[in-house]
Amino acid sequence: MDNCRGARTAVIVGAGVAGLTAATALARDGWQVEIAEAAPPGATSGWGLCLTGPSLRALDELGLADACLAEGYGMSTITHVDVHGEPAGEVRLPRLLGGRRPAMVGIARPVLHRILHAEAARRGVLVRHGMTVSAADQEGELVRVRWSDGTVRRVALLVGADGIRSSVRGLLGLDTSVDFHGQMVWRALVPRPPWATGIQQFAGKTDTAGLVPLSDRRSYVFLTENGVERSVLPDAELAPRLQQLLAAFPGRVEEIRSQVSGSESVVRRPVLTALLGGAWNRGGCVVIGDAAHAPAPQMASGAALAVEDGLVLARELGRHESVGAGLRAFVGRRARRCRTLVETSVAIAGLEQAQRHPEAHLLVDSCHRLMAEPT
Ligand SMILES: Cc1cc2nc3c(=O)[nH]c(=O)nc-3n(C[C@H](O)[C@H](O)[C@H](O)COP(=O)(O)OP(=O)(O)OC[C@H]3O[C@@H](n4cnc5c(N)ncnc54)[C@H](O)[C@@H]3O)c2cc1C
Repeated sequence: MDNCRGARTAVIVGAGVAGLTAATALARDGWQVEIAEAAPPGATSGWGLCLTGPSLRALDELGLADACLAEGYGMSTITHVDVHGEPAGEVRLPRLLGGRRPAMVGIARPVLHRILHAEAARRGVLVRHGMTVSAADQEGELVRVRWSDGTVRRVALLVGADGIRSSVRGLLGLDTSVDFHGQMVWRALVPRPPWATGIQQFAGKTDTAGLVPLSDRRSYVFLTENGVERSVLPDAELAPRLQQLLAAFPGRVEEIRSQVSGSESVVRRPVLTALLGGAWNRGGCVVIGDAAHAPAPQMASGAALAVEDGLVLARELGRHESVGAGLRAFVGRRARRCRTLVETSVAIAGLEQAQRHPEAHLLVDSCHRLMAEPT
């Protein structure tokens, strides 16, 4: 019997997009929530991201979409450019918040995290930085959680929102593989050119590149390097190497390329995915976000799944008498949608590697339309 009504206490591991939105959604429903976050305050990795329609729709339910739109760069189109630098079509993304608000927003990661942290704090969520959870054991209807400083809590719910390399997954015996797909992705912060009012996507002979506006002044350039081994380059080699890779693209990419040497920093990461095939839950414990389903970045939708997870988790726990039943219902509602997105992102990565760009664009387009359907 794991009934926990009246004892709505939760520990969440990870204060990323999934952890903070789940914490806010639970706290809004009266849960007492503490988060264990390994990183120090203010640490985020990567420059920016695109919050697509489903992200904005889920953030809107938490009252946060307008803050993101105000501080980011709202847009509604993806412009495709072919290997010769010629326009190859424009995809208009569905405006899920109605015609008056844009379909998506480009936003700097530190800005998004500031907005999410502020809302969680306003709801009374406590984030303990430099901390993790080292053990989790089901004791009757409660979960006995040991923090890395030795503190022990008995809570109704433990949520692992600790990203693709989740350690909570391991604690719960839910291990899965993390797969590399022969691609390395590059990001660099550059000024926003006046012509970039939506996402620009450039097909190259070997690689793909693009630009995502983050504000009136800033944008980030991305490049996906195909058919490469997983490797780490010295920091000093990053900007020159990215410039060299961008030199293979004709047209407007030349203008972006010239800005890369002045970029504050260039980051290069392997394209990795993970997907839990079976259950995501054990007793009063569950994993969400990238810890359960990490897509390749090509669909720009990992954060959307993470925010939706937080909302649906709170909703299902509110609907069921016991935490166990709520978690089973949550996983039941989420598994298919998340699997589809991860598998489609892997298929897109494969088409990019095979230089089948038009097919990749069609798949991106149809998957965005699928994701636009209600969760
Ligand atoms: C290059 C790249 C570009 C992307 N672009 C987009 C995009 O444009 N749009 C989009 O929607 N998605 C994008 N994504 C995907 C998106 O970033 C992720 O899906 C999303 O961040 C997942 O959120 P999360 O909270 O589950 O995990 P994370 O964001 O990884 O957060 C996990 C948190 O847990 C903490 N943590 C980790 N381990 C522990 C531990 N043991 N104990 C305590 N804390 C821990 C971490 O410090 C972190 O704060 C991109 C991903 C990549 C790699």
